[in-house]
Amino acid sequence: MSKTLPCGRKRANPPSQNDRSGDLWKSRLNDFLKKKGLRTTRPRELVAGIALSKKTHFDIQTLVKDVNSRHSEISPATVYRTVGTLCEAGLLTETLQSKGGVALYEASLDDEHHDHVVCVDCNEIIEFHDSNLERAQNRAIESLEFKPIRHRHVIYARCLKLTR
Ligand SMILES: [Zn+2]
Ligand SMILES: [Zn+2]
Repeated sequence: MSKTLPCGRKRANPPSQNDRSGDLWKSRLNDFLKKKGLRTTRPRELVAGIALSKKTHFDIQTLVKDVNSRHSEISPATVYRTVGTLCEAGLLTETLQSKGGVALYEASLDDEHHDHVVCVDCNEIIEFHDSNLERAQNRAIESLEFKPIRHRHVIYARCLKLTR
């Protein structure tokens, strides 16, 4: 499974996305919909199941194609709407933008925070977490008299193995 990148680095397995434990998201989605006074519909649940089982960062067009290949009766509009709902419910997060400025999403089923490094040569997305960095960020924000709520941190980088 581990494909090698142009720089020789092993393609990273997203650490936070290995455990898609069962149908936990279903109850979270249902609770959220109920609170909003919305019904759980079959198409909505099918789209959610496909989106939340994705192991990588993905754009909506890719999701629309995947949904269409399995359930051609589900319209792209439903996919777009469901992605919006899943983001609002906190089950899906828009984490970064691709090189072309397209929004990329990833499932956020666990509450573990991570940030991203994007390789400027091959566009591979690597996830990382550095507690020192997180603490330094929080201190900086608190010194401005703010309470940090969330952040997105993307570093565009070149692999040292290629530049050596
Ligand atoms: Zn962070
Ligand atoms: Zn990620």
